[in-house]
Amino acid sequence: MGGTKINSGIITCQGEVLYSYSLPTLAGKVNVVDRVVEAIDAVLDKLPKHPTLKGIGVGTAGQVDWKTGSIRFANDLLPGYTGTPLREILQERFRLPIYVDNDVNVLALTEKVLGSGQGADHFLCLALGTGVGGVVVTNGKIVHGAWGGAGEIGHMSVNYKGLPCICGNIGCLEQYASGTGIAKLMNDRLADLPGVEHVPVNAKEVVDLWLNGDVLAAEVMDEVIASLGSAIASLLHIFNPERIVLGGGVAEVGEPLISRLRLEVKRRAMPSLFEDVRIESALQRTLSGMIGAGLQVWEYSE
Ligand SMILES: [Zn+2]
Repeated sequence: MGGTKINSGIITCQGEVLYSYSLPTLAGKVNVVDRVVEAIDAVLDKLPKHPTLKGIGVGTAGQVDWKTGSIRFANDLLPGYTGTPLREILQERFRLPIYVDNDVNVLALTEKVLGSGQGADHFLCLALGTGVGGVVVTNGKIVHGAWGGAGEIGHMSVNYKGLPCICGNIGCLEQYASGTGIAKLMNDRLADLPGVEHVPVNAKEVVDLWLNGDVLAAEVMDEVIASLGSAIASLLHIFNPERIVLGGGVAEVGEPLISRLRLEVKRRAMPSLFEDVRIESALQRTLSGMIGAGLQVWEYSE
């Protein structure tokens, strides 16, 4: 469930999608929870009284209180959503076990069952999208922290004198390695060029320019790779993972970014903690968030 779209589906324990449905969230116009219920109803209608339906898993935007399944905080993209006791409401409505986590954490379950996390007990996921999301998996389990707020890798500072971040910190990874951050780094450079009218570019265009040898884009991507390398090296030192999985729109470029990143991390990390680590691309699959949301039911039920 995101700020613009809600996907729902019937998922098997292997992460296979038997049926899926999508509808616009219409945040700010209608009650978001009503839309979630509508999305669930739409798939249940396809399998009426399905005998083996085991539960409902939700991956949602916002910060989730994992113990209660309520929304601890959601930004202005989802007005009125903060404080919603989502699990309670859905349990009341559907009379099934309900599991609610944030949209990034559930992606780690998709990676664990279908993707680059397969066979690994210790791995980290970074989702480089509009922001930078993160998940830490240790001993095969997602690290939730005290209430579910753990894994905000995007708000780990990689430069204590750096760019201010909306979270209140300075120099957060998200300022350098998110799509938004990359576009801003490039557009600021373009704006500084004397006497040239510039058309704002997006992150995808920066990456394309970089691959085509553009000098300014190369400067920006050097900064992106250095910030990611610094963050990942610190994460290796703290968590000793076997794998780092990179997803999100920015990571779609794949090997050109990942190979540079491996060199950068190698340069920065303790050799003992770097040597066996694999840095890989996430599954590039539509609905992977929805699949992970469903997989929670098997992950957490007895
Ligand atoms: Zn931040």
